[in-house]
Amino acid sequence: MTTKTALVTGASAGIGRAFATGLAIRGYDVVLVARDGARLAELADELTRAHGIVADALPADLLTADGLAAVEARLTDADRAVDLLVNNAGFLTVGRFAELDIEPEVREVELNVVALMRLTRAALGAMEARRAGAILNMASIGAYQPAPHSATYAATKAFVHSFTNAVHEEERGSGVHVMVVCPGFTHTEIHDRAGLGRSEIPEFVWQSAEQVVDSALRDLDRRRATSIPGPINQILAAFSSVVPAGISRRIAGEFTKRMG
Ligand code: NAP
Repeated sequence: MTTKTALVTGASAGIGRAFATGLAIRGYDVVLVARDGARLAELADELTRAHGIVADALPADLLTADGLAAVEARLTDADRAVDLLVNNAGFLTVGRFAELDIEPEVREVELNVVALMRLTRAALGAMEARRAGAILNMASIGAYQPAPHSATYAATKAFVHSFTNAVHEEERGSGVHVMVVCPGFTHTEIHDRAGLGRSEIPEFVWQSAEQVVDSALRDLDRRRATSIPGPINQILAAFSSVVPAGISRRIAGEFTKRMG
């Protein structure tokens, strides 16, 4: 059996690191993408030694044209097929939109939406030609309703959810599987990076990055269009779909305020 290769963006921390580890445990060779080359090299070394797979660090800033081009080139390299793309890199901003600096908001759209869309396009071309492959795009349960105090972040995730579901349908019968992953509150570095303090969100609502990844890889095996990890997040997503918009956005705003 030939070894499959997965490329994971945002692999230096959090959910992306857990994806890289979970995929290495499953026997995938991995290509690790993020800005912090030292962290990637350390992880690549650890995964190679622990799981006997090939792990390559590909340091790239997906907010730069050069960084995007390097990852697009790796995804379209016909001699080194990528069988699974995990489009995971992303970040969060929090605060009243009117009071936030505009530049980080624009970068949030460029990373969470534009980079993800570009890498999906690059991977699809190569995968369609082989009539095989899979793409996992990282959204959030924030995709299911507007989130006051995190307006841009939730909007980027709504884009990823809608976009990925549409492409999933377009790829039916092509041999390529496209799935959106919608985690809820997950212990990673994202909240510290957003400058949040101690969260008031109760612990039972939180998941580990490993729980998110286990659930996503199970749902990938089942060829699902959407993966929502855990019953609490599934209930929250279903709740947002049935209650009036004015109520769900107010509740989402209360959650966001309690993040820290
Ligand atoms: P995290 O721990 O902060 O990790 C983010 C990763 O993205 C890091 O590896 C970071 O590495 C990378 N990254 C950031 N900016 C980048 C750039 N410009 N170019 C390349 N890589 C970049 O966050 P996380 O929680 O694991 O988030 C992963 C994904 O899950 C995100 O899309 C997030 O929106 C989504 N998500 C998270 C939660 C949650 O509660 N944690 C919930 C729902 C969805 P470098 O700094 O080394 O570049």
